[in-house]
Amino acid sequence: MKQIASKKISGSLVVKTGLHIGAGNDRVEIGGMDNPIIRNPLTQEPYIPGSSIKGKMRSLLEWKLDKVKQFSGKPCACGRADCPVCRVFGSANNNRGSADDSKGPTRLIVRDAGLSSEDRQKFNEGKPIIEEKHENSLNRITAEANPRPIERVVPGVRFDFELVYRVIDTGDNGAIDESNFEKVVKESLRLLQNDYLGGGGTRGNGRIEFASLRDEHGKEITL
Ligand SMILES: [Zn+2]
Repeated sequence: MKQIASKKISGSLVVKTGLHIGAGNDRVEIGGMDNPIIRNPLTQEPYIPGSSIKGKMRSLLEWKLDKVKQFSGKPCACGRADCPVCRVFGSANNNRGSADDSKGPTRLIVRDAGLSSEDRQKFNEGKPIIEEKHENSLNRITAEANPRPIERVVPGVRFDFELVYRVIDTGDNGAIDESNFEKVVKESLRLLQNDYLGGGGTRGNGRIEFASLRDEHGKEITL
């Protein structure tokens, strides 16, 4: 087993409707925002964890490939070499030496997406790239609206997106991984563009678009 290529896709992830990637509520301060977005702890800049992007890509692909119901809503963990999901995204069986070792290592790495340089400048100048939106939940008995603030990155903000994909020769000259790059990686990016990222997607949040995508040679990529 040998790695024969390292492919890359880089470009922009553009926010189309308010994006909320939650930071969790474990550090709520009194009087503080109870639905904060995740931020870089040093700079306070919003960012998108690579794990959030990758996790969503994976789950959309599992739905598409009908890998969901037989695993009771949990991620596919079959670990088989012929399972495109486990082969590309990895599986819990990776380290157990069980399942199918011929699958080799996880192929896909998605980097954390930080603000583009223009939006970082806006952020540093105090321009509003983050908003506080009030979403109402309706009390069913009193019919009173209960406004709940939620923090979102505003439409138009761009994050720098990058993923790396390893092509490994498993006795096939890398043919399976090459084909999965199209069928799994690029397909799950297309699925993500048609779905949403982060919280509140069914209420219209989190629509995103990829733009100016390039491969490792700087050549333009279309999804
Ligand atoms: Zn699997």
